[in-house]
Amino acid sequence: MNIQEKLQKYLGKSVADASNEEIYHALMTIVQEMAAEKERTDSKKKLYYISAEFLIGKLLSNNMINLGIYKEVKEILTQNGKDLTEIEEVEPEPSLGNGGLGRLAACFLDSIATLGLAGDGIGLNYHLGLFKQVFEDRLQKETPNPWIEEYSWLKKTDVTYPVDFKGLRVNARMYDIEVTGYNNKTNKLHLFDLDSVDETIVKDGIDFDKEDIRKNLTLFLYPDDSDENGRLLRIYQQYMMVSAGAQLILDECTAKGCKLYDLPDYAVIQINDTHPTMVIPELIRLLVARGMDMDDAIDVVSRTCAYTNHTILAEALEKWPVSYLKKVVPQLMPIIEVLDDKVRRKFDDESVAVIDRNDTVHMAHIDIHYGFSVNGVAALHTEILKNSELNNFYRIYPEKFNNKTNGITFRRWLLHCNPLLADMLDETIGEGYHRDAMELEKLLAYKDDEKVLTKLMEIKHRNKEALCTYLKETQGIEISPDTIFDIQVKRLHEYKRQQLNALYIIDKYLEIKAGKIPSAPVTAIFGAKAAPAYTIAKDIIHLILCLQEIINNDPDVSPYLRVVMVENYNVSKAEKLIPACDISEQISLASKEASGTGNMKFMLNGAVTLGTEDGANVEIHECVGDENIFVFGATSDEVIEHYAKADYVSRDYYEKNPAIKAAVDFITGEKMLEVGCRENLERLKNEIIGKDWFMTLLDFDSYKEKKDEALNAYADRKEWAKKTLVNIAKAGYFSSDRTIEEYNRDIWKLQEEK
Ligand SMILES: *Cc1c(COP(=O)(O)O)cnc(C)c1O
Repeated sequence: MNIQEKLQKYLGKSVADASNEEIYHALMTIVQEMAAEKERTDSKKKLYYISAEFLIGKLLSNNMINLGIYKEVKEILTQNGKDLTEIEEVEPEPSLGNGGLGRLAACFLDSIATLGLAGDGIGLNYHLGLFKQVFEDRLQKETPNPWIEEYSWLKKTDVTYPVDFKGLRVNARMYDIEVTGYNNKTNKLHLFDLDSVDETIVKDGIDFDKEDIRKNLTLFLYPDDSDENGRLLRIYQQYMMVSAGAQLILDECTAKGCKLYDLPDYAVIQINDTHPTMVIPELIRLLVARGMDMDDAIDVVSRTCAYTNHTILAEALEKWPVSYLKKVVPQLMPIIEVLDDKVRRKFDDESVAVIDRNDTVHMAHIDIHYGFSVNGVAALHTEILKNSELNNFYRIYPEKFNNKTNGITFRRWLLHCNPLLADMLDETIGEGYHRDAMELEKLLAYKDDEKVLTKLMEIKHRNKEALCTYLKETQGIEISPDTIFDIQVKRLHEYKRQQLNALYIIDKYLEIKAGKIPSAPVTAIFGAKAAPAYTIAKDIIHLILCLQEIINNDPDVSPYLRVVMVENYNVSKAEKLIPACDISEQISLASKEASGTGNMKFMLNGAVTLGTEDGANVEIHECVGDENIFVFGATSDEVIEHYAKADYVSRDYYEKNPAIKAAVDFITGEKMLEVGCRENLERLKNEIIGKDWFMTLLDFDSYKEKKDEALNAYADRKEWAKKTLVNIAKAGYFSSDRTIEEYNRDIWKLQEEK
């Protein structure tokens, strides 16, 4: 049966007569059947990628691309007067992640399957996701984000594992999502859940009884941890994920005939950030329970686990008080004490202890001592880990440290999200780049080809038009595709410095008001969720929403400058925003963004980066050369020195720089108070003047100068088109296929199948 016939069969009517919902469900069935017919990857040794987050995005189109039926289906739909984009809207986006770390895990699953490697994901099935962001009175409000439907990609299995907490035994049930590789076999994403979880206990926004573990355990990703019960709940979640995961791993290995002493020959566990760290003591516990002695168990587990570090922000390095662990998972404490004791016997250095003098357990320290590999996620990040942040560990274990610069899957972030560009590339350089991303470099041969450059500009314009329509329909906001689209979308965090972008916008606004008209009209687009308890981050969202109100309604200014804050930024929104971008804002304080992957998605879709020398921006700069990126700001060495000397005083910048003073004062000026909340705006202004921990004002002048340079450069349309061409052509290095090849070559050492 061909796809047209299958569609008819499942619909029980012609495609033309079916609704978008019906077509979506029929396509889902077809995709799931095809995926089930595909072979599972198989090899003696298997990777388990454990992560608290998998920000996988919608699955229909991505699976159709990977199964090779996307174009055919699109064609059939078009012939019947249906539009695949509208059918995609029917699918709810799984809400299983928060930001870059979760999206990375999703890109990795795609690449692992595409390369034919045996590797499954292990995580949790959060019913209500992170949270859904809505704007009310120009403030972020959090509401539940339910995404699980009766017919979905998520399949309930009969597999359950008992998980013991203090005074509570639960049964973790496994759900599976099929992971299709591009023209290859399949893997699985295993998500654990409890049958007893009850969504009706959520009241008033995202509040719920944090002590009712049977009912709340998998309700939300990162439940509020501003009180002790919230922090304990996170430990419950983490332990359920790793205990069920560890039991699954041991079951699969023994089924393949593995003697427990040979575990490292059968399994490699990649620990994505510190949330899954308890898998180390849990596996040791399980091996000891099966008769292994403690020292052997520690040795076996240490040769099985590898750790990825994602951040150097001190507040993000997880630590748990011993008293908390005793309340939730007392069975792990004797093991963690042994792990600490071994370290203390070997090293006379308090800074590398597992349990510190305040009875706090440092999760990353467990990973580093008792894993065989520690990797950073971009060259600069890994160097900072080795030379400063984790230097004491690097001196002990230099051989464990390695870099794996992040990547993104081109199937989702080009073939799926930008079909116009993908088609044009197929025609111009062939389809080889779908699997071998470095083939994008063939595009460089067309750097002076008028036809190709014009086509690139046309595609960008059409993508901008599509975004305009979408924003009009979803948020009622009108913007023009004939302006420069300057986009900053990512989690809201002070280190990412959305506030720097906002100060620039205020400065521009004031200039226009004073009669200085910019060379080209600009639309500044933001999208970002702030953590519910992160007050200043929410104040920054408030600032941006107030600027949107003031600027877009000011007839003197709005012809030249507009501001848009996209609601509930997620993967689906990213897929619409990124292909429409001209200038990609990557303006974190140097040394603070471990890698970034948003930067790579924008580059691949022909946006030009305006960024600091931070994270993978450094490597993007190396790839495209000085003429095809706009770099500004203090270097990471300079920033690290400022922190060491504690000599950065934001108030000095505020007082000595009139443009900064005017922009900062505007935050609590009359105009703003007409539309905004005094409390939030004053708090934000005081934070910037009195603290500014991420040194926004340090880079204000250089940011303004570089951004104006970028906006002016846009006027030379042909030169700009060349820059976008070079960015696309040089993006191959940032394919997650390359990243995964490196993980496999250096860490996992699995057999590769084509
Ligand atoms: C890629 C992506 C991120 C990560 O963006 P950064 O700019 O690297 O922080 C976050 N959220 C979503 C939805 C993404 O697609």
